[in-house]
Amino acid sequence: MPTSPASPKDIPSVDRLLRGPELAGLLAQHGHQLLAAQARRLLDDCRQRALRGELDLSELSPPALAAALTAAVSQRLASRLRPVFNLTGTVIHTNLGRALLADAALQPLLELMRAPNNLEYRLADGGRGDRDELVESLLCELTGAQAATVVNNNAAAVLLTIAALARGAEVIVSRGELVEIGGAFRMPDVMASAGATLVEVGTTNRTHPHDYQRAIGPRTALIMKVHTSNYAVQGFAASVDESALAGIAHAAGLPLASDLGSGSLVDLAHWGLPREPLPQEKIAAGCDVVSFSGDKLLGGPQAGLIVGSRETIERIRRFPLKRALRMSKLPLAVLEATLRLYLRPDRLTRDLPTLRLLTRPTAEIHAQAERLLPVVSRALAPRYRAGVMPMLGQIGSGSLPVDRLPSAGLAIEPVARQGVGRALEALSAALRDLPRPVISRIAEDRLLLDLRCLIGGTEETQFLGQLPALVERLA
Ligand SMILES: *Cc1c(COP(=O)(O)O)cnc(C)c1O
Repeated sequence: MPTSPASPKDIPSVDRLLRGPELAGLLAQHGHQLLAAQARRLLDDCRQRALRGELDLSELSPPALAAALTAAVSQRLASRLRPVFNLTGTVIHTNLGRALLADAALQPLLELMRAPNNLEYRLADGGRGDRDELVESLLCELTGAQAATVVNNNAAAVLLTIAALARGAEVIVSRGELVEIGGAFRMPDVMASAGATLVEVGTTNRTHPHDYQRAIGPRTALIMKVHTSNYAVQGFAASVDESALAGIAHAAGLPLASDLGSGSLVDLAHWGLPREPLPQEKIAAGCDVVSFSGDKLLGGPQAGLIVGSRETIERIRRFPLKRALRMSKLPLAVLEATLRLYLRPDRLTRDLPTLRLLTRPTAEIHAQAERLLPVVSRALAPRYRAGVMPMLGQIGSGSLPVDRLPSAGLAIEPVARQGVGRALEALSAALRDLPRPVISRIAEDRLLLDLRCLIGGTEETQFLGQLPALVERLA
């Protein structure tokens, strides 16, 4: 209850509030309209609380109102998109923005985007250029393809490829590859959206060359291979690889397309990581089109990269839908700079954050967990206790679901035996409520902070700097 309750008639008008000397600076910074709108809300709220007898006169002093209005304005202007700490253990996390972009790709952006640029202009002869040309030669060099084009994301790449090559005709796909990628991207639906008829061959676990051969008919326009990114068929399984399928397709005069999903441009096995198929292998195997994402293992911006034979890429580029799916100059600039990093493959684990995170030695993560343990334990006491634990993370974004990434971190459990679930939810919510939210995961009655993605001194310092705020939220 307020010590000296305010009545609605104690509340100043919007005009009087804004004329106060306390608000001159704020007014000069943000202008009258925003301030008046926020002041109206603030004073309305005061009026409601005064009517309920919940408002104290002190809250209506000019400094108190100025402080409340300043807070309301900064909240109104705060960005909805915020940096978080990804301590989930999933490195390429779709809900957390997938690949982290390289500094080398981000630093030139301000200057590039502020000024006019040669997005579709050929500086050599002053002629009109194609924005694809900014990355086409790099993509060809890196994948061995004859030609390349880029669109908004890989879902768009697949849609465009099917529409351009097989609209009004049939596309043959193995039943083992009719996958759903999450977020409502299902192969049969994409086929329908592109105006093609899906012809399913084989079975869920086994598809043979003759299954494809028998399905080829006068209406067939395309054979398609889909990388089953987010699940694996194990045991009694068989599929037809791209080189065998290219032979079958080309003998019938058909193109072969391959949707690789993640498609890493470098062999991850080189760093002891699970292997993902490479676009360059699929091109070498005879695929006419290979598509993959820009923001998965490639470590770049959201993009759909399409590489292949000159003739097929030209058909895709000329298809009208291409114009609707084209990349904007902002991600295109980031993509070009990211691809250029691949010209120095032996510097990639340093220059490309995604690869840096994926190749981080487990021993280093473990040592970091030991270092953080006493400080974090102190912040969590007495309700929770923490310990260092080996963990299994994931690459993420549909790559290799069966392969886990050995990692380490802090496992936290409530001290009280009662209400464990609720206590963990409360901790998880408090972590998400921090100025830079910490995203964790709960498994087997513990909250896990996988530290693989907490890299670099400044990140760790910022994480530790938030612990006092966590203590406050847990109090
Ligand atoms: C991720 C994925 C897609 C969709 O790619 P986006 O870049 O997210 O649009 C399509 N196909 C496969 C096999 C995938 O793994």
